[in-house]
Amino acid sequence: MTTRTTRSAELCEPDILQGDGCQSWDEFLYGTSQLCSQHKDVMKDYYCKQCSLAICPRCFIADHNGHTNVSREDILQKLKHNLDMLNHDLKQEIMKLETYCGLLDEKLSHADGVVNEISDRINQQVHTICQKVKVQGDKMKARMLDIVDKSKLNKLIEENSSIIEDLKSTVNGNNLATEDKYIAPVLEQTKKSRKQKEKCSSRKLDMLCLNGVLFKEGKIDTGMISEQIGRLDIIDSGDAVVNTDSIY
Ligand SMILES: [Zn+2]
Ligand SMILES: [Zn+2]
Repeated sequence: MTTRTTRSAELCEPDILQGDGCQSWDEFLYGTSQLCSQHKDVMKDYYCKQCSLAICPRCFIADHNGHTNVSREDILQKLKHNLDMLNHDLKQEIMKLETYCGLLDEKLSHADGVVNEISDRINQQVHTICQKVKVQGDKMKARMLDIVDKSKLNKLIEENSSIIEDLKSTVNGNNLATEDKYIAPVLEQTKKSRKQKEKCSSRKLDMLCLNGVLFKEGKIDTGMISEQIGRLDIIDSGDAVVNTDSIY
């Protein structure tokens, strides 16, 4: 940083341009070179600070020897030198900013990587939780199917269907017997029919009472779900903004 301080001292236009406040000094600085009124073909490229006068080299030798003076060329060279230094500093600033932008780019791609990785892990955890919840639901449904015993009803339907078939067969036998000429077959059908009728009449046609099944949806606790997914901590490392001074 010492170099920079030295440069800053050199970059001091007011020092270089400092004059005596006279109009002649301003004309000497900013005006175009003028020919000397005494020595017609020579330019007034010097300024005598003691006499506050723009003079030519020949006037200087003749009338201003020993006086403090400054040349236009000298001022110009100093200013150009300062401008070079400024340009050098500006290039340094450009490099510094380019490095800074590069670091920001790195941070950006690093941030992308972190965001993607964490997102994937959250998705995975959510997926796992959903699967486990589904397994619990399936278990509950299986328990319900165990409780509701449909086989009892099926058995009862089967028994009664078989009785219906027997009765239909007897009814057909009776129809044939009414055509018969002999007593014995008619009597036999009558006995059979009476027996079946008694058996049917004594049969109870009760409805089976099944186990009751109820379901009530549980209250979904989002706080608990969030806890199950996991904890997301944002650690503020405080380096979101890079101090440019720290680059160099
Ligand atoms: Zn002159
Ligand atoms: Zn003089």
